[in-house]
Amino acid sequence: MTADPASLVVLGASGDLTERLLLPGLASLLAGEGTRPLQLLGTGRSERGQDEWRDTVRKAFDDAGATGSEAAAVLDSTEYLQADPTEKEDLQRLLDACTGAPILYFALPPTITMKVCAVLEELELPEGTFLALEKPFGSDSESAAELNRQLVRIVPEERIFRIDHFLGTDTVLNLLGLRFANRLFEPVWNAGNIDRVEITYDEDLALEGRAAYYDSAGALVDMIQSHLLQVLAVFAMEPPASLDPADLRSVMAQVLRATEVQGGDPVAASRRARYTQATVDGEDVPSYTDEEGVDPSRNTETLAEVTFAVQNRRWAGVPFVLRSGKALKSNRKNIVVTFAPVPSLPRGLKGHAQPDRMVIDLKQHTVELELTMNGSEDPFTLEQASLRTELRGADLTPYGEVLRGILHNDPTLSVRADVAERCWRIVEPVLDAWREDRVPLDEYPAGSDGPSSWS
Ligand code: NDP
Repeated sequence: MTADPASLVVLGASGDLTERLLLPGLASLLAGEGTRPLQLLGTGRSERGQDEWRDTVRKAFDDAGATGSEAAAVLDSTEYLQADPTEKEDLQRLLDACTGAPILYFALPPTITMKVCAVLEELELPEGTFLALEKPFGSDSESAAELNRQLVRIVPEERIFRIDHFLGTDTVLNLLGLRFANRLFEPVWNAGNIDRVEITYDEDLALEGRAAYYDSAGALVDMIQSHLLQVLAVFAMEPPASLDPADLRSVMAQVLRATEVQGGDPVAASRRARYTQATVDGEDVPSYTDEEGVDPSRNTETLAEVTFAVQNRRWAGVPFVLRSGKALKSNRKNIVVTFAPVPSLPRGLKGHAQPDRMVIDLKQHTVELELTMNGSEDPFTLEQASLRTELRGADLTPYGEVLRGILHNDPTLSVRADVAERCWRIVEPVLDAWREDRVPLDEYPAGSDGPSSWS
């Protein structure tokens, strides 16, 4: 790791992401392997006292056990600067306050990020400036391409990090070991042996006051277009020669180039719904359309499901079902792999051979294999058994992992420019079909499993 000092400038430091994920991520890094010398600057248009900001940072550090001298130095360095990042003078002031190479972290709504980039083009940036951008990257493939063109006018591509923190999730990274470091799974990781793959990210939380962002995104853009397609890429990619950024990002890009809406038919391959009022655990959850800040005429979905096909030799014919939603009964966040049935069973074995399944739980950090075996009472009767292992949760949070990449100048987990555009192109047929109302917008009571017609 370079020992050169860096200044992490968080644009949008008054927002949800900074307090809930970014600062705890930095804290997990400081509590563990540490960073290069770091100045932390928070900025936003909102007024915020220095003490209040420092307390926010200190709390994140304390919660993560980041109490060593490095964390103390970062805490000592930290300041909150009230500034509007879309104003040239304010941005210049922020750059002038940096004591190290600036890392501009855009914890901002995507439209504002693009405005800030336009202003950055007019400024002379210090040597070694990095840009770190949150998803969504643009709002469609064209604006993502425009944003990519704009970004390289500001700094070279190798100094642009497009963040998708799902790539920093330990269970997703564990797919590398699970697939490539043993003899058992990779030989069957193909259409000849796998019938179906489901990647689900269901939340029991409802809108939680995030209408300003969510109502113009919805479940498809918020989760499937970005995070879940990245998980699909790691699951389905060809074995990379190494984990070198060039190798890993190439095989991920390759598999996403082969990914399309199943059958080229977005109407048959997608479903959408939004939640309605219900009492969940004694609490009243209003209908999505009655949530503050929601414009019902946008028809924003809070549950999305799309079936994709990966059109290559390895995966031809295997449906990849990606689903995500809010205000659901369960917090199911997993990858379920359903293996093909065996071609034949010896005569005399009683019972049914259920399809074998592997369940990779992205939140519980478990991998479970459900297999058909001989019964415990009658050895000639088949029964389902389960082999389960719990993976030790990583010390670094996903945001700790992505910040580590930025501070180490290691883009392995950063989304490549072409992939950011490709992920839009993959979902665009569905977005068009939904916009044109060719797919019904179903409803489900908050706290349920989704629309009853879906089960
Ligand atoms: P917020 O909606 O909380 O906005 C962040 C900050 O942006 C606000 O606090 C505000 O600061 C500033 N801002 C808002 N509007 C403007 C404007 N018109 N001009 C200048 N600044 C503005 O966003 P989040 O923190 O939730 O998310 C930030 C980014 O991170 C988004 O791109 C989101 O997609 C992404 N993300 C968020 C996650 C989350 O869980 N929150 C998870 C993963 C990614 P101020 O008013 O002080 O200027």
